Amino acid sequence: MAKKDYYEILGVSKNATESEIKKAYKRLAMKYHPDKNQDNKAEAEAKFKEVKEAYEILTDEQKKAAYDQYGHAAFEQGFGAGAGGFGGFGGGSAFDDIFSDFFGGGRGRGGHGPSRGADLQYNITLTLEEAAAGVKKEIKVPTWVSCDTCHGQGTEKASDVVTCDTCHGAGVVQMRQGFFAVQQECPTCHGRGKVVKNPCKKCHGEGRIQKTKTLSVTIPAGVDTGNRIRLSGEGEAGLNGAPAGDLYVQVQVRSHAIFERDGSNLHCEIPINIALASLGGEVEVPTLNGKVSLTIPAETQTGKMFRLRGKGIKSLRGSAMGDLYCHVVVETPVNLTNKQKELLKELSESFKADKSSKHSPKEKSFFDKVKKFFG
Ligand SMILES: [Zn+2]
Ligand SMILES: [Zn+2]
Repeated sequence: MAKKDYYEILGVSKNATESEIKKAYKRLAMKYHPDKNQDNKAEAEAKFKEVKEAYEILTDEQKKAAYDQYGHAAFEQGFGAGAGGFGGFGGGSAFDDIFSDFFGGGRGRGGHGPSRGADLQYNITLTLEEAAAGVKKEIKVPTWVSCDTCHGQGTEKASDVVTCDTCHGAGVVQMRQGFFAVQQECPTCHGRGKVVKNPCKKCHGEGRIQKTKTLSVTIPAGVDTGNRIRLSGEGEAGLNGAPAGDLYVQVQVRSHAIFERDGSNLHCEIPINIALASLGGEVEVPTLNGKVSLTIPAETQTGKMFRLRGKGIKSLRGSAMGDLYCHVVVETPVNLTNKQKELLKELSESFKADKSSKHSPKEKSFFDKVKKFFG
């Protein structure tokens, strides 16, 4: 079911200021407050929730940016879920939803010392068809993963992980610089607060090993060059069981032989011959979902544009479909047979005989202007 636009819910414009948004929220929250709607409590409560959600998204800078770019898709659960066979090491949350980048998913970022794994970037190139319809892609990413022998702990026995003597488990040490006490990352345990006594043989105590991961990425319909999909926790595993970094899948959409893309709209050229352009008729035009028939009216000129509604690309935000614009190009015939040349000569003679020039309105007005110019 299509969700209502957040701006619409609050009754504000897309470029409303924060204070306008707050004002609208206050007014609606009062209106739908369950205490004030004893008669239709359920309905009011649902409205109230809707309003509250819209308000919370639109007053959070990051969430608002995500919503403006991707619409409700930015917050849909299960976006990017369904990674084939990659059970979450270190807590099971292998996949957050794709765009959780924008609203801080479950895993706190930055709060974990320095040994958090590095983020990775994977560049993926899609055909226009794939980008338009959405696609599931398997990708192979060389990375560091948590060691399966020691489960990322760097040692096989839990008792071999002991509190760091240098910092007594704090992960930081106090250094004195002149009058000031400065906190620094503990040089012994690198901020973990713990050290490993008998390092794991497989990963030499690092808690991670190099491996090429195969991941399945769900690319939502409507993506375009420059869009980035974040797979939370699929970057490099951290040292000694520290959290993994994230994997960013950077999208690049290949140019297409027929269609040119402009956001969610498509453009294509439709060459037609002079006979069809003059007399009118039907042509088959390509769309991303197969051919459709287009009626060319009689006396169609080069440059005429026909819009096929809804034959473009689904927009990433919301379910709106773009359009397909067909640009007519009238083509001069080539490789003519003698018979065809004869026919054209005959046509030309008949144009000459008909002195009014009414068959070429543009040509007539052009020569009129030329005459005036020199006259
Ligand atoms: Zn290990
Ligand atoms: Zn330490």
